[in-house]
Amino acid sequence: MASRPLSSSTPAGQEPPDFEDFLDTFPIPVPPKDAAKPKKARVPSRASGIDINFCKTPRCANFGVPVQPTAQRGQGAQNPYTIVAYGKGIPSARCNCCGVSFPIKSNAGVHEEYPEQVAKIMTIYRALHNYVWIGEGKKTTPAMRLGLAEKPCGYEDVLSFS
Ligand SMILES: [Zn+2]
Repeated sequence: MASRPLSSSTPAGQEPPDFEDFLDTFPIPVPPKDAAKPKKARVPSRASGIDINFCKTPRCANFGVPVQPTAQRGQGAQNPYTIVAYGKGIPSARCNCCGVSFPIKSNAGVHEEYPEQVAKIMTIYRALHNYVWIGEGKKTTPAMRLGLAEKPCGYEDVLSFS
C-alpha cells in the first residue's frame, strides 16, 4: 500500500517544501536605502517654559543661551554651540565661546523629576535676565529700563547672600 501525502495540497509523489524555502516565498519587505527616516531631534524642545540645555559657565557669553534645535553647518557657520556625542544616542553640546561640554538633557524629564529645583533655577534665571544681563543690541537691563536699578548688577549681587 502506497503512503499518503501529509498534505492534501502536496501533489502525490512530491516532497513538501523545506520550511526555509517555504519562508522564502514570503519576502520580507526591505525599505529602500534612500527612504527618509523620521529624524529624532538631537536637542529636546522646551518643557513647561524651561530649557536647561545651555552653558553653565556664569561669565561665558553663552550662559543662559539655550542650544538651538537647528544648527548651521559648514564653514562660516556661527552657532553658540556645537552638538557632539559622548556615545551612541548620548548627545552633548560644546560651548563655542568657553569650550565647556555638557550633556543634553530632556527638559520634560528634568521638570518632572526635580520640579522644586527647576522653580528655584528659573527664579535665579529671571533675576539674572532682569538685573544682570544686558540684552543684545541694548545698553541697559530690563530693570534699568523700568527704573528699578541704576546700573547692571553683578552675579554676586544676585547669587550670594549676606
Ligand atoms: Zn560657555
